[in-house]
Amino acid sequence: MRKRLHEKIAQFTDVKDVRDKGVYPFFRPISSGQDTEVIIDGQRVLMFGSNSYLGLTNHPKIKEASKKAVDKYGTGCAGSRFLNGTLDIHIELENRLAAYVGKEAAVLFSTGFQVNLGVLSCITGRNDYLILDEYDHASIIDGSRLSFSRVIKYAHNDMQDLQRKLALLPEEAVKVIAVDGIFSMEGDIVKLPEVAVLAEQYGANIFVDDAHSLGVIGVNGAGTASHFNMNDDVDLIMGTFSKSFASLGGFIAADHETVDYLKHRARSLMFSASMPPASVASVIAALDIIEAEPERIEKLWDNTNYAMKLLTEEGFDLGPTESPILPIYIRDNDKTFAVTKLLQDNGVFVNPVVSPAVPSDSSLLRFSLMATHTFAQIDEAVDKISRVFKEVGVTTVKEKI
Ligand code: PMP
Repeated sequence: MRKRLHEKIAQFTDVKDVRDKGVYPFFRPISSGQDTEVIIDGQRVLMFGSNSYLGLTNHPKIKEASKKAVDKYGTGCAGSRFLNGTLDIHIELENRLAAYVGKEAAVLFSTGFQVNLGVLSCITGRNDYLILDEYDHASIIDGSRLSFSRVIKYAHNDMQDLQRKLALLPEEAVKVIAVDGIFSMEGDIVKLPEVAVLAEQYGANIFVDDAHSLGVIGVNGAGTASHFNMNDDVDLIMGTFSKSFASLGGFIAADHETVDYLKHRARSLMFSASMPPASVASVIAALDIIEAEPERIEKLWDNTNYAMKLLTEEGFDLGPTESPILPIYIRDNDKTFAVTKLLQDNGVFVNPVVSPAVPSDSSLLRFSLMATHTFAQIDEAVDKISRVFKEVGVTTVKEKI
């Protein structure tokens, strides 16, 4: 029998096509810290493609905490939380996070992706239902694929569709509605008040992925439930440390019983090594700073509102975003890649987002703000984006009207 794998792989020509056009935008090596400006190929580039919403990745106190943790605990835990990999600082951080998001308990995972894989694969079982927004993050989709329960999707933030789908399910079945708090590519916020009414009506529980909401919305950045003052309506709150918290890892928070269940069922927790000490200590230090300096979140929103105003005045289509994630819709993959490349040549880093991250007719530039950006940096970026769009021939909304 001939080996077929390489023939099959060779059929995937999409990446090759983009490379051949000289506009391949992924895996760009950065040779500096992740900040509002980074160094790529020896050049200074303005960073508008980071998830470090509060700009904490180079904060001296966080770096110091991280170094001290290495000195005390070493560089790794050499095992899973379940067995030899639990440190006292894991427990300390879990208690801090539970209090921060207003839940009884929390448990850490090594990445946010692993939280969603582990939790969604075991929170429901055979004959139960997971109900997802069609634009939920890939990790929610993948977690649901690992689950034995039935998976139903509803149209993005469409409450009528959610109701239609819920009404078809058996009344006595266990149902969990899993949503992004802030949607990672579109930047809009889940309609939690309406979701909660439907969840109550149809006897469903609610899981919110707050990856992009922590440090951004809610009291002291405590996320979506806090933003809507609806803590009791959300059963499970998931978060990551790879965005506002300047680190790596993730957590799930819920009532004691649910968290205890997850600690003994979530396979990506039980069979994977625990968060390294430096990462845990960084998150504790980041939480200290977030709670002590609420002005950082205000600055993030000042920057967001300023950039939103400028981009809207320039006539760009930003969709229904309500957050520091500003999608600039181009709706053409080739032009999205071309614009990204030219912007980088002109010293601005943005992320191209194409299928499967978004539907293929919705390709966009993901422009995201940090609290540490200056208005001058935003001015420079918007000016360059306008010029590059003209050069590539992208029609903005204003020109279309
Ligand atoms: N959920 C959402 C909504 C995300 O955007 C991401 C990361 N992009 C994750 C989960 C996964 O988080 P992590 O990077 O910590 O694995």
